[in-house]
Amino acid sequence: MYCRNCGNEVYEKAVMCVACGTPPKAGDKYCYHCKSETPPNASVCMKCGVSLSHNYHYSTEGEDWLTALLLCFFLGIFGVHRFYTGHTGIGVVQLLTLGGCGIWALIDFILIIVGSYRDANGRLLVRRF
Ligand SMILES: [Zn+2]
Ligand SMILES: [Zn+2]
Repeated sequence: MYCRNCGNEVYEKAVMCVACGTPPKAGDKYCYHCKSETPPNASVCMKCGVSLSHNYHYSTEGEDWLTALLLCFFLGIFGVHRFYTGHTGIGVVQLLTLGGCGIWALIDFILIIVGSYRDANGRLLVRRF
């Protein structure tokens, strides 16, 4: 694939472009697939049709959405979904308060369902279906 910032060819799993020093998928100037220039904020490459925003989500891949949802549903009052997504501190608090008497766990459950729940690194959960 190509660096989205400078168009340099980089490895598929590269975390940093050797040419410009930024994460390859952090840029918005070039298509990672065909290297053609893309307008900033373009969600689809006009030349080859690949989804740019979709791929960006994959590059910042978070935890599995369905796993977090099920953990929250069955074990939410123990904060297990919080541990799973890296919020260890909050997980401990939820464990001690039994998910804020279930209310906190319920709020998290809704956040996960509507897709606005983020893990400790600020990444959205990934839906793989
Ligand atoms: Zn680059
Ligand atoms: Zn393209």
